Order: sequence, then C-alpha cells, then structure tokens
Amino acid sequence: MSLKDLMPEGAYDEIVAEAHTDEEKLKQESATLMVTCPTCKKRIPYDRSNPFRPFCSERCKLIDLGAWASEERTIAGRQVNEDEDADLLQDPNLPVRNVPGTDE
Ligand SMILES: [Zn+2]
Repeated sequence: MSLKDLMPEGAYDEIVAEAHTDEEKLKQESATLMVTCPTCKKRIPYDRSNPFRPFCSERCKLIDLGAWASEERTIAGRQVNEDEDADLLQDPNLPVRNVPGTDE
C-alpha cells in the first residue's frame, strides 16, 4: 500500500509533475540573473560560464569596445578642430565671421 494507491487515477502523477516544475522554476530563477546585452539588447543569463558577460557573445563585446575606441578618436579629432578654429579666429588677416544668430 502506498500513497499512490490511495489516490484517484492520475492524481499522484499530476502532483509529482507539478512539484517538479515548481522546483525547476525556482532553481532557474535563483541561479540565473538575466541581463541585457549592451550591444544587441538580447536578454541573456548573467552566467559565470559566459566569459563575455554582460555581452551575449565575443562579437558583441568587440563591437562595444570598437564603439568606445571610435568615440575616443572622434573626441580627440574634435579637440584638434577646436584649436584650429581658435587660431583662425585670432588671425587678423581673415575676414570677420558671421556669428550665427546675429543680424548683419
Ligand atoms: Zn549581443
């Protein structure tokens, strides 16, 4: 005589299946923190087994690093241009520039 014998047909299996599902769900929720890949916005598990976290892949990590590198280059180039503009504005031989927003 077991618990299974005392229950209606199928009820025991149903309860066991349900308990198992809850257990699996809890295990997944507690073990896996979900993050969004900064590059492709894909939801990925923040897992120790993923060496590219918080990126989903090496590709996305490289894309993000590349974006930073190109941004740095842009800022550096902009600074050079600003210096050139300053020199030009101080050159007395150049015609006076029209300043945007003022009437001639
Ligand atoms: Zn990605």
